[in-house]
Amino acid sequence: MKVFTSMTEWQAYRAALKEKPLGYVPTMGALHQGHLSLLKASKEHSAVSIVSIFINPTQFDDKKDFEKYPDDSGSDLERLESAGADIVLLPDSAQIYRDDYRFKLTESDFSRRLCGAHRPGHFDGVLTVVMRLLNLVRPDHAYFGEKDYQQLQLIRDMVSAFFMPVNIVACETVRERDGLAMSSRNQHLDAGQRARAATLYAALKHSRTAAEARQKLAGEGFEVDYVEDIQDRRLAAARLGSIRLIDNVEI
Ligand code: AMP
Repeated sequence: MKVFTSMTEWQAYRAALKEKPLGYVPTMGALHQGHLSLLKASKEHSAVSIVSIFINPTQFDDKKDFEKYPDDSGSDLERLESAGADIVLLPDSAQIYRDDYRFKLTESDFSRRLCGAHRPGHFDGVLTVVMRLLNLVRPDHAYFGEKDYQQLQLIRDMVSAFFMPVNIVACETVRERDGLAMSSRNQHLDAGQRARAATLYAALKHSRTAAEARQKLAGEGFEVDYVEDIQDRRLAAARLGSIRLIDNVEI
């Protein structure tokens, strides 16, 4: 496994890379089975699989959330090595934002709804970093989780809008045994919150309407940001204490 911390060195290596297809998995680290399932999908379809770890500051609307975001690249690298990643990119913020974030990508409709309505600027940060990373890696396939469904949809739309030559592959949400979607944020839940957290998935899946799901969540002590049915999916974000959880299911 090759690890690049210098993006200049990576770009020189990439320019000489002839193998195809290239698969790419962008992450913010604190890796779990959800992330590794994207790498597995990449390894099935690609000659070379690249994973990046970059905790993107521009997508955090809440500074405290950014500061406490788990950061453990040592154990992440061990996990990636045993899961068979070929290349890992570990850029720092100065390399990704050489322009000090003067240039950004804005979407003016869907990104303002659901999570975007509660996290101003979040999806501008996400789309901007994904555009930069895709340009830096130039993969044939890029893998994203359905867990972040609104993000996935916006990235698909961005790639289509800008004629970007990459195939976006959606991967199913990986869950804990009780149904809780795996997330780097789950490690901040205390024992009581963790026991209640699986209600999010159960309420989305087993309610007849979004309103019924909202009611069940409130009854379990969640502060609900939203539950909404959009086409064939039910999407939600809800907080237990200061931990914000998101999930979605097919309906
Ligand atoms: P993150 O590190 O949270 O930015 O996530 C990196 C990628 O992993 C994104 O495409 C996420 O949607 C995906 N991902 C995160 N959690 C899961 C999960 N439980 N199942 C599947 N994909 C996931």
